[in-house]
Formats: sequence, C-alpha cells, structure tokens
Amino acid sequence: MATPALMQNYGNRTLTLVRGEGNYVWDDAGRRYLDAISGIAVCGLGHCHPAVTEAIQDQAQTLLHVSNLYNIPPQEQLAEKLVGLSGMDNVFFSNSGAEANEAAIKLARKLGNERGYACPKIIVTEGAFHGRTLATLTATGNAKVQQGFAPLPEGFVRVPYNDVAAIEKLAAEHSEIVAVMLEPVQGEGGIRVPDADYLPRLRALCDQQDWLLMLDEIQTANGRSGKLFAYQHVDGLLPDVVTTAKGLGNGVPIGACLARGKAAELFTAGSHGSTFGGNPLACRAGSAVLETLERESLIERAAQLGVQLLDQLQSELANCAHVTDIRGLGLLVGIELDRPCAELVEQARARGLLINVTAGNVVRLLPPLTLSDAECSQLATTVAALVRDFAQQAA
Ligand SMILES: *Cc1c(COP(=O)(O)O)cnc(C)c1O
Repeated sequence: MATPALMQNYGNRTLTLVRGEGNYVWDDAGRRYLDAISGIAVCGLGHCHPAVTEAIQDQAQTLLHVSNLYNIPPQEQLAEKLVGLSGMDNVFFSNSGAEANEAAIKLARKLGNERGYACPKIIVTEGAFHGRTLATLTATGNAKVQQGFAPLPEGFVRVPYNDVAAIEKLAAEHSEIVAVMLEPVQGEGGIRVPDADYLPRLRALCDQQDWLLMLDEIQTANGRSGKLFAYQHVDGLLPDVVTTAKGLGNGVPIGACLARGKAAELFTAGSHGSTFGGNPLACRAGSAVLETLERESLIERAAQLGVQLLDQLQSELANCAHVTDIRGLGLLVGIELDRPCAELVEQARARGLLINVTAGNVVRLLPPLTLSDAECSQLATTVAALVRDFAQQAA
C-alpha cells in the first residue's frame, strides 16, 4: 500500500520499482523485469539512456530555469529540430500530454472565435484518450474518465472512430465546426489501427470544409509507430496541428503542440503560456532523444521489431481460443481477447515481465525501441504462453 499521504487516485499499487537500465527495471526486492510498457510509451530509448542522462546532467549544472520572459537556447534548438523533422511550422512547449492537447484545443477555439462562431465545435472520436484536464477529459471518449466531473465544457461532438462517413454527415448537419481531433492509432482505446485511407480522407475533408486536422500523437510519436510521427506513414500528409509528449523526454516531463499554416499564426503575444513549458532541462532531454533516435536508427528499428513481434504473436497465438484480434503499428501492439483480462498483468509480472491491459480486454505492449531480437522474441514467447494459459483456464 502506498502512503495515505498520497491521494488514492491510482488505486492499489502492488509493485515498487527502484531502478532501471536499458530494457529492464528492478523492484525493491531486487527482482528484474523486462519492461514491455516503457512507463506507458515514455522510455522509448530504454531506462536511463546515457545520452539523456548526460544531457540533463550537463544542463542541471548550467541553468535549470529562467522562465519564458527570456530567450532559451535549448528551447529554440529543440523547436528547430522538431519543425525540421515534422514538416510543421512552429511549436509551443508544455509539460505534459494533456497540456499539449489543451494548447491544440485553444488553437481551434481561437480560430472559431476569429470566425465569429458562438460555440466552435471540435469533432472527437469514440474510444479516444486525450488526457485528464477538464477540456481533454471531455474530448476523451470514455465515460469513466468523465464520471463525476460535471459540468464539462461544451464544444465537442463525438463520432465513431475510423468512420469518415459519420464525419461527412456532421459536416452537413452541424455548423460552427472548426476541427477534427483524433489519434492516428488509438492507444488507451485498445491499439486501434484505422483503415489506411482514414487519415487521407480526413485530410481531404478538412481541406474541403476549412477545418483543422489535429492529431494527438502523444503516444504514437517519437518513433514508436516506426516513423517519427505516425502520420508520416502516409506519403505527403501533414496535419494542421499535432501534439506529442510521452516519449519526447524519455522520462523528463515535456509536451509539444506543433502547428502549420493558419494554425501556426493563431497564438499571439499573451494568448497562451506556461511557467515551466520549454524549460532548459526538458528541452535538452528532448533534443537528446531526437538525436539518439537518429544516431541509433531506432525508428527503423521500431518498424522492424514491430513486424517481428506481430508475426511471432500471430503465429504462436493462431487458433488460440478467446483471442479475437492481434494488431499493431511498429511497437504499439495489442492482443484483443473476448473477455476482460486484467489479471494477465499480475501473471506477467510473476514471469518477470511488465505489460498492460487497456480497454479492459486488450493486452497492450509498448516495449522500448532498444529491444534486441532475442528480447523481442522472448517477449512474444512469454506473452503468447500467458495468453494461452489464460484461454485454457477460461475455457
Ligand atoms: C497519455 C496520453 C495523453 C495524456 O498525456 P499526459 O501526459 O498524461 O497528460 C493524451 N493523449 C494520448 C493519446 C495519450 O496517450
């Protein structure tokens, strides 16, 4: 049990992790675990990657914080890197994913206000997860996240995920729509990979309607999908706004909201801000992550490992009862069962493996991009054995 001095919002936590190195973490009894969740898609470079450690050590003894009253060279350097790699025009730095999405939502609202709309609307999807602040939990398509927090802000309209026709219908029925906001692959929603034509068709629809296409890549970016940003799987496609966080700092809190074209001009002096956002320490970590992804060819590696992991899971779990789907993109991998399977988390832990179950019945694997072939194979073997045992007991 965690100390009662903490609010109890994380429930009953039963594992205490005290050290990490590479693809492994250790608990307070000295037991080692292969980390196939990476702090929920945060530690893509593995734990305590020396390049990140060195960057934050150096910055910690140079300058930790000055505020955005001043120019911050590490912030400018990270901005230029991100803009260059993403095809976007500019960036606002936050401290978390939810705050990056708040910035995106404010951009859409600003555009709506400039257009004279009384209640600008953002289209969001079922099964979405966008964060826990009031606006982002409202954008989230999961009633449990919203439960007990009324009144929720207005201005969101929900449609099923992976359904362009539902959005086309809204275009005809609703006025004052300003943006569509969605994940290119739903993470918390159960690793839902949409049809290949979903994003291209949404891009065309947004162009035609003069809406912003806003992608939440908080979980999918930073190489995890096999591209730096998941939208880069579609040749030539660019969103108007894209957010990221999680893997960008490899454990140092940082978020980013990138914008392009008219969306990049909406914030003017005083429109938005953050005391900590873009601080020198976080930005040095972000730059170290981007440099390491490139130097160690980890994005290509994520694509390759993702194929290996998916192939092996599909072959080891072919015809396994109660498994309804095995899917993924890069190192975002989900195994869907036909029933709740939260107990698999505990069973994996007993075999020295950290995994996660999301949406109640989807085993979610988000391992570091630094897995070796042997570790990747061991991960698939262990997970497949767990799922087979679970299926047998369920039968
Ligand atoms: C984790 C996540 C968020 C929220 O990020 P926080 O840093 O927890 O605020 C938002 N969107 C997606 C897709 C996420 O995976």
